[in-house]
Amino acid sequence: MIVVMNPDSSSEHIGHVQRLLGEMGAVSCVIQSARGKIIEIVGGNGHVDKSILEGAPMVERVADEQSPLMAMDRKPGDQTHEVPLGKHAVIGGKKLAVIAGPCSVEDQSLLLEIAHAVKEAGAVGLRGGAFKPRTSPYTFQGLGEPGLEMLARAREETGLAIVTEVMCVQQLDAVKECADMLQIGSRNMHLPVLLAKVGEQDKPVLMKRGWSATFEEFILAAEYVMKGGNENVVLCERGIRAHEDYVRNTLALAIIPEVKRVSRLPIIADPSHGTGRAHLVTPMSYAAVACGADGLLIEVHVDPRRAWTDGSQSIDPVQFRSLMTNLKAFAEVSGRTL
Ligand code: PEP
Ligand code: MN
Repeated sequence: MIVVMNPDSSSEHIGHVQRLLGEMGAVSCVIQSARGKIIEIVGGNGHVDKSILEGAPMVERVADEQSPLMAMDRKPGDQTHEVPLGKHAVIGGKKLAVIAGPCSVEDQSLLLEIAHAVKEAGAVGLRGGAFKPRTSPYTFQGLGEPGLEMLARAREETGLAIVTEVMCVQQLDAVKECADMLQIGSRNMHLPVLLAKVGEQDKPVLMKRGWSATFEEFILAAEYVMKGGNENVVLCERGIRAHEDYVRNTLALAIIPEVKRVSRLPIIADPSHGTGRAHLVTPMSYAAVACGADGLLIEVHVDPRRAWTDGSQSIDPVQFRSLMTNLKAFAEVSGRTL
């Protein structure tokens, strides 16, 4: 069980709650979280009466230990937390944020060509992996640091914010030099050590849903980052594994309005990994925006058939432009602009 204290609570208020807990036979400790002070019951064998704690001054709420929503829970009237994406964009505001680019960084001129094309069509961020978490160790693993330099050059030329994946703590210094937003991939959403380290950085984070992660596990992964003091987390629904293998993953769109109901964290959708099929990317983008997504992450390649990774789910710049044009109507229906 945890007791969430009002951010303005003093040490006397905290001491008072801890004394009440002591009288009930509970042992507690105080945690300084990103949002404020939390008292956690760590032991003891007494019966804890929640209503007594709820009545104490400066107690905001008393929740079960497993309650996944702490730092960013949404109360009626709350706005979505706006997360900066580079110098010119935010995710979670009225304007939808579309991040597009190749699955992997392949070479400089190709990356620049894609970057210019997506920017012209209205993207505010450029995606592209320099470190690639591949299922097979015998396939292309990404260009590594040279790929990061190519991304940095693309930002210089286009002004697009860079979103790229960091797979482990050892890569963090190099990736954060280049990235405007650190991507945590689906495979790595379950790594508490990486999440905690990313939580100590002054860089926004894109948290992709693990393909087998429950709603609660997904939210708690974000909580790991926020616990370190970094509240700039954007969730990304990228599909979960179901019995169906016609599509690579099943884009679980219901999570979008659900996140909006309970959390102030922004959430975007990745219809590329969420379907695995290029022709499904456009309709699922419309659907995600209609569901209230704050933005999209889309794989775009000038020649998808030749992409080194994920070509089958990449759309080309012409398809991307048409997607962006038609997306406006869906944005409007959702009360957003593009
Ligand atoms: C990607 O964005 O290219 C990627 C590897 O995504 P995911 O971690 O969702 O599989
Ligand atoms: Mn990919």
